[in-house]
Amino acid sequence: MKTNSGKTWNPRRLDVRAFAEAGAALQADLPLSSLKRLLAERVPDHGGETMIAWQARGEMRPGNGGVPGVWMHLQASADVPLSCQRCLAPVITRLDVDRWFRFVADETMAEAEDDESEEDVLALEPRPDLLDLLEDELLMALPLVPMHETCPAPLPAVVDDSATSPEEPSTPPHPFAALARLRK
Ligand SMILES: [Zn+2]
Repeated sequence: MKTNSGKTWNPRRLDVRAFAEAGAALQADLPLSSLKRLLAERVPDHGGETMIAWQARGEMRPGNGGVPGVWMHLQASADVPLSCQRCLAPVITRLDVDRWFRFVADETMAEAEDDESEEDVLALEPRPDLLDLLEDELLMALPLVPMHETCPAPLPAVVDDSATSPEEPSTPPHPFAALARLRK
């Protein structure tokens, strides 16, 4: 994958230090179908591919004791059809990622520093998979309860014959609501 600096970077195994030292950036559109964990959250058989626009930018910043720190900014956005928890129809949900990461030598250091840092601290080695990281962040951006502000179709009536008194005629199911569900 080429960048602004003309150098080729491998987002699946990124040399983040070189990336930051070059002040490089990556920008791409990724099909959601290549992120299997996120794909599982999407409404199945929705038809059509969902594209995720993402970008990463590396930066060296002055750190503790004059040693420059390795930083990376990750941004992404995607409109993902999720299942509305009220009417079960698809609800297009905007997922946004906008996060800074600081990188340290290895996982032991990252773990130790992550607890006492406001930013997320990750390890330079083994080289991180940016797309895995992106997927983690998108999963965290998922709403707990995806829901329409206003559901498009009336809620399916709960049919309980035993509770209906003989004087009250039960409401017949709305034909258009059923049709609308079939067309989804
Ligand atoms: Zn709904």
